[in-house]
Amino acid sequence: MKKVDVFVIGSGGAGRTVAKYCVKAGLKVAISDNREYGGTCATRGCDPKKVLLGPTEVCEMASNLLGKGISRPPELNWLDLQRFKLEFTKNVPQSTEKDLRELGIQLFHESPRFISSDTLEVENSKIKAGKIVIATGYVPRLLNVKGAEFLNNSDDFLNLNNLPEEIVFIGGGYIGMEFSHMAARAGSKVTIIEHGSRILSSFDKDMTRYLTNVTQDLGIRIVLNAEVIKIENVSNAYNVEFKQSDKVNIINTSMVFNTTGREPSIAMLNLEKANVNFSEQGIVVNEFLQNTSNPRVYACGDVSEHGLPLTPISAIQGEVVAHNILNGNSKKVNTPVVPSAVFTLPNLASVGLSEDEARRKYNNVSVSYNSVQDWFSAKRINSPAYTFKVIWNNSTKLILGAHLLGSNAAETINIFAMAINHDITIDKLKNTIFTYPSWINDIKSMI
Ligand SMILES: Cc1cc2nc3c(=O)[nH]c(=O)nc-3n(C[C@H](O)[C@H](O)[C@H](O)COP(=O)(O)OP(=O)(O)OC[C@H]3O[C@@H](n4cnc5c(N)ncnc54)[C@H](O)[C@@H]3O)c2cc1C
Repeated sequence: MKKVDVFVIGSGGAGRTVAKYCVKAGLKVAISDNREYGGTCATRGCDPKKVLLGPTEVCEMASNLLGKGISRPPELNWLDLQRFKLEFTKNVPQSTEKDLRELGIQLFHESPRFISSDTLEVENSKIKAGKIVIATGYVPRLLNVKGAEFLNNSDDFLNLNNLPEEIVFIGGGYIGMEFSHMAARAGSKVTIIEHGSRILSSFDKDMTRYLTNVTQDLGIRIVLNAEVIKIENVSNAYNVEFKQSDKVNIINTSMVFNTTGREPSIAMLNLEKANVNFSEQGIVVNEFLQNTSNPRVYACGDVSEHGLPLTPISAIQGEVVAHNILNGNSKKVNTPVVPSAVFTLPNLASVGLSEDEARRKYNNVSVSYNSVQDWFSAKRINSPAYTFKVIWNNSTKLILGAHLLGSNAAETINIFAMAINHDITIDKLKNTIFTYPSWINDIKSMI
């Protein structure tokens, strides 16, 4: 039986952080990943997605300015774009492995399985670990419908060499919306089938109403309150059968993507053998990110039940776990208010409380909500939408939440996140000199 001090499962931002801190502190560390090393964000998530977004931003801006200084729309070459994306992703697994190996970490390449509360089986070895860290992230949720084998997922979309003529995305969450916008701008005919009554249900409904209009103007069909029941392969194409108000409809399309959401990657770990409790959101942890039923086990990143499944949270949680392994449980996970963005064009971004949450929590709430497509920042680039809702506590003048739809919203929202996390009042924000003309300077007119 081999022994290590710490065994980390998963080499994404969360797992890598724990492994590196622990080995640098002198512990014997092993890590395993059952896919390419480097995790979701760098290889099949945020980074490749944002690279693919680049040229679609150029096309969007150019088409908005047609006849206003631009005389011909640029042509997007999807295959060239994919080649460009590979420059960012292709070396990630190799360089991640090299980095970890050079630090003295032992690497494995398959999913370990718990065989008892402190022992894992991996690559035909049994390994006993002082601490076991589960950092396995999320995987695409499978859809339980007839013909599910014909569904593609986000990995497949990010690796498409040819963009199909027609695409159906099942699910209007952030991944479905971002991909729809990219595909439509690159020339595909796109349909989104969403089972809820609106897209992006966790975002402010006034913002999503405007985004729905922009999305439809782009030629994307949005089918709401619809449930997919069957996918059928019919001569090089697919029939997607769905039910809407008790009526069964069919869309014929070249490709179908399941973008209904993601779930914790825990199915292969044999958690029952180690008495590790978990829920639908992930591994159940206390404030030290330690599993509540097996104290040898910690969990961080998307797969921990704590916090939103976003990249910046993973690294922070990895640091907390490393600290608690090295020093005993003394660092609590304290996730600040987290901004999030949907990289549609325009972006949708949000931080803090929704209007309803703020009104339920505080008596004296002010809401500044407006659609300001005629403001200079948006008008100068002929942007199709610019809308904001900022919520603050009128007694303390502290910002409670901000919701933005605009070309630069994913950047501007960071100022609101900073204001909320560092108690910067609206008066102080108003008194700050920002560059002019700029999107961030617009904040002063929003509050
Ligand atoms: C298409 C897409 C776009 C995204 N865009 C954004 C964005 O714009 N901004 C943002 O903040 N976040 C985004 N995310 C989410 C972000 O990628 C995750 O929050 C982040 O990668 C989580 O890091 P992690 O270390 O917790 O997990 P991961 O990075 O997922 O790493 C987990 C690792 O564990 C491995 N693993 C899984 N199961 C096992 C097993 N049984 N055995 C061994 N290894 C295993 C996986 O292969 C993976 O390498 C996006 C995700 C996707 C899919």
